[in-house]
Parts: sequence; C-alpha cells; structure tokens
Amino acid sequence: MRKSIAIDMDGVIADTETQFINWYERDYGIKIHPQDILGFKEDEMFPDKTAARKFAFTPGFFRTLPVMPGAVEALKKLMENFDVYIASAAMEFPQSLPEKHAWLQEHFPFISWHNIIFCGDKSIIGTDFLVDDHVKNLDFFKGKSVMFHAFHNVNFNHHQRVKTWEDAVILLETHL
Ligand SMILES: [Mg+2]
Repeated sequence: MRKSIAIDMDGVIADTETQFINWYERDYGIKIHPQDILGFKEDEMFPDKTAARKFAFTPGFFRTLPVMPGAVEALKKLMENFDVYIASAAMEFPQSLPEKHAWLQEHFPFISWHNIIFCGDKSIIGTDFLVDDHVKNLDFFKGKSVMFHAFHNVNFNHHQRVKTWEDAVILLETHL
C-alpha cells in the first residue's frame, strides 16, 4: 500500500526566511544575514520584534513567497511512490487562505485540491510522514517526523533533520 506524506508550506516548500529578510530590508533599511538569526524564533529574528508577525498579516506576503529550492522537483518525484498532501496551519493567518491556494496553483499545479489540507492544529493529521520545520508540529505527530532545516530549529535534534529537498527525497524513499 502506498504510504502518505503531509508536507508543510512555510519554511518547507515556501521560503519564508528569504521573504522575511527581504521585506525587513525593504521596510526598515536593515539587512539581516541568515547566519545572524540561527536559533532565533520567528518573533525574535528582527530588532523590531513585531515585524515578522506584521509581515505575515500583510496582504501579498504569502502570495509572493519564493519557492524553496528543489521543492517542485522533489514533490513530483515523491508523488510517483507516495500519496502527497500539503498541510498548512493556515488558520493562524486567515487572510492567507486564498493567497496560499493561488500560490499552490501557480507553483504546484500538479497537486489536486483533494490533497490540500488547510487547518488549525496539525496533530489531527494521520499520514505516515510529516515534513515540517516546526517542532511544535512534529512533537505531536503520531507518524514518522521529518524536520526540514530552518533557522529557528537548529538547536533541536530530536527529529530526523533534512537540510535540502534532495536529502528529504533520499530519506523518504528509504521507507518505501
Ligand atoms: Mg512551517
């Protein structure tokens, strides 16, 4: 039987870190370097602690996120052998729902609406695997967790870490 994978959006297939850094430089005139925020939470990543949350509530933020390198190719490859679902806790930012849907249609048009889960708490998700960047989601997942490398999770090592989408495909395919 085909196994199922739930894949997070922000920080996993969508490059929120780059968008946050670019928007901070645009609006505050300060260039933050990725190595400067390693180990910081999203609400601590900038000198103005309110910035990240403000950006996440700004129209257009989610619609214009860069695609994480290798994500399109990786999901197409995984779909050959797994049932792949997109799982985003989008209800935290209700205005993001149509933006995330349009973003998926633009960049991942091969993902059916049947396979898109916009939700609140992810602990209800019952797939075999969850690929996510946040320990708050991975810790309560009942299947096998895969932690996608992100600045805010570098100090957590109790989940299997993957640094790139190429690594994620290699790891997941060992479980076929
Ligand atoms: Mg995420």
